[in-house]
Amino acid sequence: MGRVSGRSCIVTGAAQGIGRAIAEALLEEGASVCFADINGDKITEVADVNRKTFGESRVTHAQVDVTDRTAVRAMIDRTVTSFGRLDVKFNNAGVNRPMNFMDVTEENWNFIMGVNGLGCMIGMQEAARQMIAQGTGGKIINTASIASRQGFDNVAPYCASKFAVVSLTQSGARDLAKHDITVTGFAPGVVATEMWEQVDQDLMAIGASERPGQAMEEFSSEILRGRVATPQDIIGTTTFLAASESDYMTGQIVMIDGGMTLV
Ligand code: NAD
Repeated sequence: MGRVSGRSCIVTGAAQGIGRAIAEALLEEGASVCFADINGDKITEVADVNRKTFGESRVTHAQVDVTDRTAVRAMIDRTVTSFGRLDVKFNNAGVNRPMNFMDVTEENWNFIMGVNGLGCMIGMQEAARQMIAQGTGGKIINTASIASRQGFDNVAPYCASKFAVVSLTQSGARDLAKHDITVTGFAPGVVATEMWEQVDQDLMAIGASERPGQAMEEFSSEILRGRVATPQDIIGTTTFLAASESDYMTGQIVMIDGGMTLV
């Protein structure tokens, strides 16, 4: 028996990076998983790889923009059709587009707050609606960040959006407790994923970095564990948050930052 055997889970942003690692770790520990992402080709490819390893009956997938409530609802319906119910929902999809504070546009703000903030709230609401209808309770797990605890240079809307994720986690924990739904989150530090390719490009475009990888190297010196994380460093905690071992936790964000921030 795995730590999440028989649980029906959805992970958004599962085409790559942290989300893919979370989803595959859940499968390893016995869950059934809906891989969800806005990138339709990639999510199909990743789900197919996992179907081969874990079997058709434990894997489904959905192309979804987390800011589109109708698409989110369809993703949940697909999961319920495939696995019979929904037990665990990871709101993990996120975006970052660094920009100098004084140059931040409404477009940049709305894009980042939309995916990271509104996307998280819609994901929580629709997952909770399903769990309430089932009468089973459930677990909602949000991806925050070290940027949800303090500001960083050139990423003001990202930090604001991740502070919002913490706030939604706490508020959701309060409002959904009566339905036996827990809401938790985890806050990675610097994790080597594809996200950093875009971040590096944007930092170079605004003159805040000279070459790819520079920002990550600079962060490394601030990490007590002496290196940036890989997605594999994150999944012990995420599987724990999806398992019954964490049933008494709600409203909390677990920091997984190698000791980068001590707040
Ligand atoms: P990533 O860019 O590698 O993967 C993010 C995935 O989300 C992509 O597959 C992308 O297609 C998908 N996505 C983007 N917008 C979407 C939308 N509107 N609807 C559905 N899917 C969408 O990023 P990652 O590094 O794996 O980050 C995952 C989460 O972890 C994000 O919330 C991010 O903010 C957070 N995080 C990352 C780091 C890090 O250093 N990598 C640190 C702290 C927090």
